[in-house]
Amino acid sequence: MTDTALETKVLAGVPTQLFIGGTWRDGAKGRTFGVEDPSTGKTLVQVSDGDADDALAALDAATQAQADWAATPSRQRGEILRRTYETIIARQDELAMLMTLEMGKPLSGSVGEIRYAADFLRWFSEEAVRVDGRYTAEPNGNGRLLVMRQPVGPCLFITPWNFPMAMGTRKLGPAFAAGCTVVMKPADLTPLSMLALTNILHECGLPPGVLNVVTTTDAGGTTGPVIADPRLRKLSFTGSTPVGKRLMAAASEQVLRVSMELGGNAPFVVFPDADLDAAVDGAVEAKMRNIGEACTAANRFHVHRSVIQDFSERLAKRLAAMKVGRGTEDGVEVGPLIEEKARQKVRSLVDDAVSAGAKVLTGGGALDGPGYFYAPTVLGEVPDRARLLREEIFGPVAPVVAFDSEEEAISAANATEFGLVAYLYTSDFSRALRVTEALEVGMVGLNQGLVSNPAAPFGGVKQSGFGREGGREGIDEYLNVKYVAVHL
Ligand code: NAD
Repeated sequence: MTDTALETKVLAGVPTQLFIGGTWRDGAKGRTFGVEDPSTGKTLVQVSDGDADDALAALDAATQAQADWAATPSRQRGEILRRTYETIIARQDELAMLMTLEMGKPLSGSVGEIRYAADFLRWFSEEAVRVDGRYTAEPNGNGRLLVMRQPVGPCLFITPWNFPMAMGTRKLGPAFAAGCTVVMKPADLTPLSMLALTNILHECGLPPGVLNVVTTTDAGGTTGPVIADPRLRKLSFTGSTPVGKRLMAAASEQVLRVSMELGGNAPFVVFPDADLDAAVDGAVEAKMRNIGEACTAANRFHVHRSVIQDFSERLAKRLAAMKVGRGTEDGVEVGPLIEEKARQKVRSLVDDAVSAGAKVLTGGGALDGPGYFYAPTVLGEVPDRARLLREEIFGPVAPVVAFDSEEEAISAANATEFGLVAYLYTSDFSRALRVTEALEVGMVGLNQGLVSNPAAPFGGVKQSGFGREGGREGIDEYLNVKYVAVHL
């Protein structure tokens, strides 16, 4: 099938309504909104625009389904996840096309995300049957302690546009494995991948009411009443730090359990003893994956003065050679930014740095449309006062700054309110451990530019949030601990 035929087919097949209690339906008000292709600015399809009534209906359905779902044997829950994993992989080309259309990333990047997203379902299909407790003797020898872990109950998930499927499956996999039901609100910029996934989950046997999806352009108004409802037991949010703070405040009313996967400002540190070829490869990956629109994107490059020129020139050469274009076209490595507002933000950060004295080594400006393209950019000699060293860039821009000592590198790396991930390149084993221990982050890429892995606990510290997704830790977010004091 040609790409154009596939494009037509996936758009014709994607669901566009709300999914509540096992049925697709329009929103209570019957309104819709358009989903745009960021590489053309054209509307792809209209999707139901839900509101608070719809979200509360979704919570009704999730609440009703909760007890049966929690009582469903964990093997059965795991097998639904496993079948879904296999179905996603079998349909990865169609799903990738849909994702590229709504989000803009190149098809290869979408295939990568689809596989990564599916892998969370596989991982948690395996974890579902391993939720255990413990039984121990009281230290005084009299009684016994019984500790059990039970599903927290109905959850609300709010996810961002940058990874439209994976940010969902990182929550859905462990929630379903633990026995929780869900109301999901995907980002209005990219709802289609989640709607397509919902279809597949139900085809693979997920019972009605276990997953309910509400798309909306009024995120706060739609989710607010759900967060305030005492039937909700957990809020998991992935998105920006300012929105996360507001949601934490709202969640405090019901003392909801909360997980927050928030913004980042990842430092990428290159020591003079690093393998420079590997560091440049890692830099390209850490910066350019997802067009720089990733919470894990390297936001600033701290490079030892003795290798900074070599590193910067090589990085600039690599970024300058990357093919920018519509993600559906052959060989494209860099798609558009998600919307004009995002491009304006990148533009203003680069202009600010340049006016403060930074040198443009490649790129440095927006590219002609249609679509919200921005040239892959490397900036050298970036002064401390440049805003882009402190703010999340979320675009294909790499600022490079020099350091002289290990202490200086650590202090520059930690000089941010964020603490999601840091990348570190060195061939000195002691230094690797020393610096890793000193970095105030939840994750470290040691001589590698990619940390995301379903088998690992993903998450941050400081204002990058709390809670972990993936790994053995991921399912704990969806389990309550109950301790029983046993008198013999
Ligand atoms: P955003 O905070 O604007 O939106 C995220 C989600 O929250 C969307 O679904 C949006 O509709 C919803 N939302 C917005 N305002 C809301 C409100 N008042 N009440 C309820 N929901 C609301 O973020 P974004 O622009 O979609 O995503 C980019 C941000 O996400 C970046 O800061 C990025 O670092 C972060 N992110 C973090 C991780 C992580 O795992 N730490 C992963 C991906 C993205």
